Amino acid sequence: MAIGAALAARADQVVITDATNTLTAAQLLAEVERMAAGLTALGIVKGERVAVQTEKSLSQALLYLATLRVGAVFVPLNPAYGVEEVGYFLGDSQPALYVCDPAHAIARSPLAAGVGARLFTLDAEGDGSLAAALAGTHTPAPAATFRGDDPAVIIYTSGTTGRSKGALLSHRNLLANALALIHVWKIDATDVLVHALPLFHIHGLFVAFNTMLLAGGRVRWLRRFEPAAVVEALAGATLFMGVPTHYTRLLASGVLSRESVRTVRLFIAGSAPLLPQTFAGFERATGQRIVERYGMSECGIVCSNPVDGPRRPGSVGRPLPGVDFRIADERGEPVISGTAGGIEVRGDHVCSGYWRRPDRAATGFRENGYFMTGDVGQVDDDGYVHIVGRAKDLIITGGLNVYPREIELVLDALPGVAESAVIGLPHPDFGEAVVAVISATCGSAPPAADVLLAGARRQLANFKLPKALFFLDELPRNAMGKVQKADLRERFAATFEVR
Ligand code: AMP
Repeated sequence: MAIGAALAARADQVVITDATNTLTAAQLLAEVERMAAGLTALGIVKGERVAVQTEKSLSQALLYLATLRVGAVFVPLNPAYGVEEVGYFLGDSQPALYVCDPAHAIARSPLAAGVGARLFTLDAEGDGSLAAALAGTHTPAPAATFRGDDPAVIIYTSGTTGRSKGALLSHRNLLANALALIHVWKIDATDVLVHALPLFHIHGLFVAFNTMLLAGGRVRWLRRFEPAAVVEALAGATLFMGVPTHYTRLLASGVLSRESVRTVRLFIAGSAPLLPQTFAGFERATGQRIVERYGMSECGIVCSNPVDGPRRPGSVGRPLPGVDFRIADERGEPVISGTAGGIEVRGDHVCSGYWRRPDRAATGFRENGYFMTGDVGQVDDDGYVHIVGRAKDLIITGGLNVYPREIELVLDALPGVAESAVIGLPHPDFGEAVVAVISATCGSAPPAADVLLAGARRQLANFKLPKALFFLDELPRNAMGKVQKADLRERFAATFEVR
């Protein structure tokens, strides 16, 4: 495990701090080794899955590293998932161990038993806690020997339905992406990162945590995102990574100033589109231009705006080194530069496929190895990539293609609009109709629909104009800040009468 070697190389350096702990690299490594020995004593062997569904904690991070150390496969699960969803994820991943929070242990034990998994809680003392089960283990287990393509983590792709697939990421995938990010973001041992992201997603686990451990920097660990705590932790820090919602909340909190972020050299955003207004607002408040990047569970980070060089609002920057990137049409033919098409990637950072779904062709891989991300993008003359939307969100209205992102950008810039989500709804005449769901700027009444439409008409062809507008206090989002368009489509499905 490359992280083990990186930690061993700087034993006395502090690598992680939280409200109560300060761990040097040697202490972190010793804890990981102790946990790994405990996992081995519990009978966990290479290739077995360890499913972990706990609130963010340092122990959770240690368990992640210990799982990798014994060659087992870490399966992080969002603590917000309910019994039904957990039942699906356990049934699919078939873990040997399922670790959950004490509050859920009793309700979830039949699920664990149903798949033959042993259930533990993480920190709590007493029967059933992993801490207690591992307490007696002291002799470090030898680190498992593995090859780069051995599986390390299964990340279930966004979505809470039974169709969610587990992206199977190998040690090589994780290492390739972490090294590329360390290179493009110039992360080194002098960096201090404020970590306020959850650990069940690639953003918090790989993009933020793996890179810092490998590069030798220091992590300031926050259990959750909370604007005042983040700003306090930013004093003396050099890096912050967040989802766009974190940036809008930081801005809305009013606690940001140039002085409060003086030492920070990079603010990085991703996992959902960063609104150009947020980019501009953040620059006004702090003097810092956010580095937007783009990636996904299956392939880590694919593109980033540069550290040196223009950071462009509305663009996710250029492909990372080692990423074989192209924009292709449905048949897999590369499109002419500047044209929108499907983003496809190939390289060491891309997962080999999905857990228990051996048919690569059926799960988005082309014969020549490219992975079809499902995102639609286009590359401008300077090689910067712009995400136009998800292929499945493409609206076909009266036979014409409409990319929601184009309309959202226009609506978002109109007075009184905080943000918008554009969706396609069944329509008797057009097949699908363009519909906009809008949240108004905080504290003001929603702008009048006809005023918005008049504003949009000045910039958009008629067929792209919304045929209906709805107003919500807030757009529905998942934990990573992604707007849940499927929820909106369901909610407003009956808007137009379709026979
Ligand atoms: P996940 O696998 O949960 O990380 O979701 C990945 C998806 O999030 C991508 O396929 C994109 O649709 C979206 N995404 C991530 N970063 C960005 C970004 N900077 N701009 C637009 N969409 C993004």
